Amino acid sequence: MRKFLNLIRRSLFYERWTCNSCGKEIFGGYFCKDCMDKLIEIDHNRCNFCGRRTPYPVSYCDSCSGKNLSFDSARSVYEYTPVLSGVIQNFKYNNARYHARFFAEKLFEIYKDLGVSVDVVTFVPLSEKREKDRGYNQSKLIAKEFCKLSGVELLDCVFKIRETDSQAKLNFEGRVKNLKGAFKADKKLVKNRSVLLIDDVLTTGSTANAVSKALKSAGATNVTVLTVASISKTVFYD
Ligand SMILES: [Zn+2]
Ligand SMILES: [Zn+2]
Repeated sequence: MRKFLNLIRRSLFYERWTCNSCGKEIFGGYFCKDCMDKLIEIDHNRCNFCGRRTPYPVSYCDSCSGKNLSFDSARSVYEYTPVLSGVIQNFKYNNARYHARFFAEKLFEIYKDLGVSVDVVTFVPLSEKREKDRGYNQSKLIAKEFCKLSGVELLDCVFKIRETDSQAKLNFEGRVKNLKGAFKADKKLVKNRSVLLIDDVLTTGSTANAVSKALKSAGATNVTVLTVASISKTVFYD
């Protein structure tokens, strides 16, 4: 009987019983202690503009300085480290959609700390074909959960209007070129509104920038970007 109950318990709460990063058995929580110790939450030592982790607080860092980016500020919960990258890859490509709730909870925490007031929430769109192939848009899943927590309206207002090449091997400038004119926002929906844009990872910032540019062209007054993780560099300016 006990065996049977344990089996039910495990099948119902399986995700709570193993670390979401390394798979080790745990008693509650999301990650095991070893993985928790390796996770880096970004605190006040960050770039005040793009939110990347820095050795001490700076106004602009090496990654965003001199780039004339279209969003007004960005924040991330975590540094994109190996303990997290596998979780995010599974979330993006292996149908691990259940991570959306946890990510949204973490985003909601930093959103409250940020103290901005936004009219609407949106997300980085995929092209129609990509979303159909994958079966879901991971950023939309986080945004949906975020809206349930915050009570802010979710708007499906940005569209990826053409396919783009893989960004993987491109630097920031190459990515900007690759994404030029790839996104379009609906004027009727975003004009005179302040927008919170949600994505999974801020890499070079070129995607967040391109979507923000489309939002601003459509009349958005302000764009704040929130991502689960960001990749920081080692050289900083103040
Ligand atoms: Zn672990
Ligand atoms: Zn920065």
